[in-house]
Amino acid sequence: MDRRGVKFFNTLGRRLEPFEPLEPGKVGIYTCGPTVYNTVHIGNLRTFLFEDLLCRSLRFLGFEVTQIMNLTDVDDKTIRGAFEKGLALDVYTAPFIASFAADLATLNVVPAAAYPRATQHIDGMQAIITRLLASGYAYESDGSVWFRIAADDDYGKLSGFRKDEARVGERVASDEYETEDVRDFVLWKGVKPGEPSWPSPWGPGRPGWHIECSAMSAAFLGETFDIHCGGVDNLFPHHENEIAQSESANGVPFVRTWLHSEHLIVDGQKMSKSLGNFYTLGDLLARGISPRALRYLLISVHYRQKLNFTFAGLDGARAALTRIDDFIDRVENAAIAQGHEEEKLSVKVEALISGFSAGLADDLNVSAALASLFDFVREVNGMIDRRELGAGDGERILAALRQIDSALGVIFMPWGTAAAGDGEPSPSDVEIESAIAARKAARAAKNFAESDRIRDDLAARGVVLEDSPQGTRWKRR
Ligand code: AMP
Ligand code: ZN
Repeated sequence: MDRRGVKFFNTLGRRLEPFEPLEPGKVGIYTCGPTVYNTVHIGNLRTFLFEDLLCRSLRFLGFEVTQIMNLTDVDDKTIRGAFEKGLALDVYTAPFIASFAADLATLNVVPAAAYPRATQHIDGMQAIITRLLASGYAYESDGSVWFRIAADDDYGKLSGFRKDEARVGERVASDEYETEDVRDFVLWKGVKPGEPSWPSPWGPGRPGWHIECSAMSAAFLGETFDIHCGGVDNLFPHHENEIAQSESANGVPFVRTWLHSEHLIVDGQKMSKSLGNFYTLGDLLARGISPRALRYLLISVHYRQKLNFTFAGLDGARAALTRIDDFIDRVENAAIAQGHEEEKLSVKVEALISGFSAGLADDLNVSAALASLFDFVREVNGMIDRRELGAGDGERILAALRQIDSALGVIFMPWGTAAAGDGEPSPSDVEIESAIAARKAARAAKNFAESDRIRDDLAARGVVLEDSPQGTRWKRR
């Protein structure tokens, strides 16, 4: 695949730019992970699936990708949640970390190279704060340490916020706030009664949210790296503050390309816990929705467009997948013609791969990429109707589909589509799907006794699993 010609819309500067990583052919990507204070909703999952599509697409286009995703396991929300439940912070966050991992596996997300947790990187955060204090970018007050916005000349360069609108000399202690509220923000919060704390040169306390990502990204990807992603709500203040901290401490550019995905919305509003207008993956599985249909829906809209979530949209995703599945069945069962013209299929396969690649290379234009797939399906269906496929053509078609599915992760995804949105919940499909997810997790943990047990159990109930490099498919006997 051709690595040249890849373009991204860089939020820093707000323009479409040719993409060139620091080191040719290798890309470091930092993706802000979930705050593990509850179960993620499908809005969050839209962002994580965009990031999965990005990493898969860059690999498809020939890059070697290292993705790091942090887990925010200490911040205002996790501390509040643990306090309310009377639990230690790590006991409170553990089930949410586990359910997040299960959701990613169910949605066929390629695991990141590492999922660092903020509580494991307190030393790195303190080292950055120490440098900021030494160079006058930070100061101590009220038992906490604050970032001095007035000292940072280019504060606001990502969000477009004008620094002269900041409330100079005032401070904001909360992790999240609006642009109307720009004040010196907190790097280290002095301990409060009942809160977890770590020792520090400035007394016991805990980190602010923003410093966590400055420390964890540098620990894995270095002080300057290629791509940083998140949902648009992360842009300000979180990412603006990450830039301020990292560049002021290190004296080098922090991130070359910033990519922000738009929100999943419901009735015109952002899907969010606070508005109560959300579904979790578990909610949808309980309604008999197939994870495959959800994955298709969430990746099929360009990441910079808002995506309005509806059940009709899931029906549309299921219909698109049925079209692809029917096509694969036809290819597998097509009559073989003698004396066919071999180049005819080659031309179509080449058009598929080049159209699909060009779409992804153009700022991840997934609509263009999918259009080339459906053009291919239509044209090859025509060839099958006219009995124009020869020996070996079926395998060449499937190989091309497998190739593009390394980016999409949805054609050979190990689930059926039958359950999605057809009015009748189909718990048995869902049961199979979660058993396959559990088996995948067991295999990842090298617990082969458990993975074999799950396979045998399914076999005893008439379900056969087929493992392939693309994942596991299942069939009823
Ligand atoms: P949080 O756990 O709140 O830090 O969110 C995790 C990720 O989900 C962040 O990258 C957010 O930007 C993203 N996010 C939150 N709500 C939505 C939404 N409705 N649609 C898409 N992404 C979202
Ligand atoms: Zn972050």
